[in-house]
Amino acid sequence: VLSSAQDFDFFYFVLQWPGSYCDTKQSCCYPTSGKPAADFGIHGLWPNYNDGSYPSNCDPDSSYNTSEIRDLLDRMRTNWPTLACPSSDGSKFWEHEWEKHGTCSESMLDQHSYFATALNLKNQVNILQSLKSAGIEPDGGFYSLTSIKNAIREATGFTPGIECNVDESRNSQLYQVYLCVDTSGSQLIECPVYPRGKCSSRVEFPAF
Ligand code: 5GP
Ligand code: 5GP
Ligand code: 5GP
Repeated sequence: VLSSAQDFDFFYFVLQWPGSYCDTKQSCCYPTSGKPAADFGIHGLWPNYNDGSYPSNCDPDSSYNTSEIRDLLDRMRTNWPTLACPSSDGSKFWEHEWEKHGTCSESMLDQHSYFATALNLKNQVNILQSLKSAGIEPDGGFYSLTSIKNAIREATGFTPGIECNVDESRNSQLYQVYLCVDTSGSQLIECPVYPRGKCSSRVEFPAF
């Protein structure tokens, strides 16, 4: 119906660098399938409003159902690994993402489309390659925040949001990359609003 046709304005497609999740004070646990590749992994596809606020947990009646995405599970394990402790196969992480975020874009994407869309976006953008092409490597070195944003803009055509966290020595490090996507999940767009990134002007890119 018309009143529910526009229940969010755009998506954040959020990728996490596993090295920066794992080298924090909290540490991390590898999934039961083993250590993930040294690559950005999917954190989520998050419906958002143009004013920076966002809806969450929109439909308590739509629970996560593995059987709907059985054909995607191999790609999920590779591209959407969980690093939270204790070790698990990832389904709790994916369930959380569906229930908190995915249920808020159900007017556009059902559960299978939601996960397939995130996997397809991951295929479309190679953030690690974009950074390496600009000489920005996960080698524990420090890089200017501007150079990181520029490298991703060169490769994708769009300026990303960058979020940092801190390692055990309190160094600011590259944690998550936010790209903006239209409400159908098919096209990258210029971000209407950027998340508070918490980065210093120079940030570490730790190894994984
Ligand atoms: P969520 O539960 O966001 O709502 O996530 C909170 C949990 O994730 C907390 O238990 C927190 O310790 C963990 N967490 C959040 N950020 C990080 C991080 O950068 N590294 C690790 N290892 N854990 C994190
Ligand atoms: P944090 O407080 O660690 O930045 O975020 C905790 C959780 O809140 C995220 O995992 C995500 O579920 C949600 N979140 C944080 N910032 C945003 C945002 O800007 N947009 C949306 N849609 N969700 C967010
Ligand atoms: P958010 O609410 O921030 O979208 O999702 C974060 C939630 O997923 C937290 O409860 C966190 O504990 C859980 N989680 C499980 N695996 C991961 C992971 O690999 N990265 C992050 N950031 N959160 C994870």
